[in-house]
Amino acid sequence: MTTTVIRGGRLLDATSRSAPLTDLLVTGGVITSLGAPGMAAPAEAEVFDASGTLMHAGLVNGHTHGSTNLSKATHDRWTLELLLSGSGEWAANQTRHHKYLNTYIGAVEMLQKGCTTAYDLTFGFPLATVDDLYAIGQAYVDAGMRAVVAPMLQDVSFYKAIPGLYDALPASHKAQVDASGGDTGAILRSMEEALKHWPHDPAQVKLGIAPTIPLHCSDELTLGCVKLATEYGAQTQSHVAESKVQAVAALKRWGKSLTAHFDELGMLGPNFTVAHGVWLDDDDMRRLAAKGASVSHNAGSNMRLGAGIADSRRMLELGVNLALGTDGALCADNQNMYEAMRYASMVSNVRTPDYERWLSAPEVFTAATQGGARATGFEKAGRIAVGCLADIVFLDLHSINWIPMNDPVNQVVLTEDATGVRDVMVGGKLVVRGGRHADCDMAKLARDAQVARDEVAEANAEGKHLAQALERAVGSFCMGLCREPFHLHRYGGPLGL
Ligand SMILES: [Zn+2]
Repeated sequence: MTTTVIRGGRLLDATSRSAPLTDLLVTGGVITSLGAPGMAAPAEAEVFDASGTLMHAGLVNGHTHGSTNLSKATHDRWTLELLLSGSGEWAANQTRHHKYLNTYIGAVEMLQKGCTTAYDLTFGFPLATVDDLYAIGQAYVDAGMRAVVAPMLQDVSFYKAIPGLYDALPASHKAQVDASGGDTGAILRSMEEALKHWPHDPAQVKLGIAPTIPLHCSDELTLGCVKLATEYGAQTQSHVAESKVQAVAALKRWGKSLTAHFDELGMLGPNFTVAHGVWLDDDDMRRLAAKGASVSHNAGSNMRLGAGIADSRRMLELGVNLALGTDGALCADNQNMYEAMRYASMVSNVRTPDYERWLSAPEVFTAATQGGARATGFEKAGRIAVGCLADIVFLDLHSINWIPMNDPVNQVVLTEDATGVRDVMVGGKLVVRGGRHADCDMAKLARDAQVARDEVAEANAEGKHLAQALERAVGSFCMGLCREPFHLHRYGGPLGL
């Protein structure tokens, strides 16, 4: 068992807004002791020189899609619904190699940007096979990162999930649209097989279950997910009330909110995370809090897709566990949790001039670490304390972001942009050194990614053409739903403009 003593670094204490010089002892990937500079350590301990750095717990990305890193920045102005309608352009026709590469690119980016754990909602069935999922998990193993890999499951097609949408499509293209949904039994059997034979160490990479969007799941599928999650102790996550279109469509489909619907089917629990939750009301938040559930607040994605501004203060007030996420590269364009923290801070401010209701920097940092640790079920991540995992980021205090150092937690949340990341440890193992992934040949990765990107684009040329042909119909139908009266307003401007 390797023992390392980390000497000379400053340890961020977000609560007291300080960063005292602190030595750490790491044994077998776990923090076993914290002490003043010069703390005693076993003679055989390797010494890691952290002088000139600020140490903080590895950031936890509460919501991303490793399946979309080959597609970063492919689109300019688009909404969630246009993204979903265009899945034939970006999600289809990927080989196992493409899926692995997609995931690996994101893992390397997250690690280089100070994030040590991710909740990855990846390809579901039938887009992925069980063996594809194992390969996706292997990408995180190879990158040296922790992850929950949760396949996105659905048996209702996007076009049938939103009442009236399929009928509004142009007749000339209806035949080309896949409105078939999926085979519920086959999806659940594949999910169970993957859970039963998951080949990776769940202390590093584990399998979760993601009924992707409540509207895209039949009751039978949702109930099947609840049963499997209980049987296998799996984390669950779903995009709930991300857009107003979803919130309005739920009332039309079920006469109740998405959260109330999932609550009645038994989905809510301490292992459940809502992604986005922009259009949650007080009743929804109370239901989540009562069941010990989490929300991954993805402020950057919500702005990028025009989904609205989530009320993160109200979530905290009502007792919901708050995590932060970037979302996938399709609608985040990068995987930068420092940016996610800065956005979470800023968007809470634009909701109200009442500055006492804004998220404080310690609240934001806690959400991006401990909140994410709870949402992912890696309870021993997200903190630098005795008994916790040695997932540690070392920021270079000679980086321009830290010249000079003022309030360290404000500076981590509001100034740091990941260019100050010097080293990153996961479970005591150094995976990033000098700002670069220790094992990744970046030139080779760039070449492989460019080839893969071209192959996927070529295979999906028809899908892209169809998405473009449907854009006007889908866009205008969904805009109609956005203009409907609803008891919440989460946009930055008035309706109809
Ligand atoms: Zn998402």
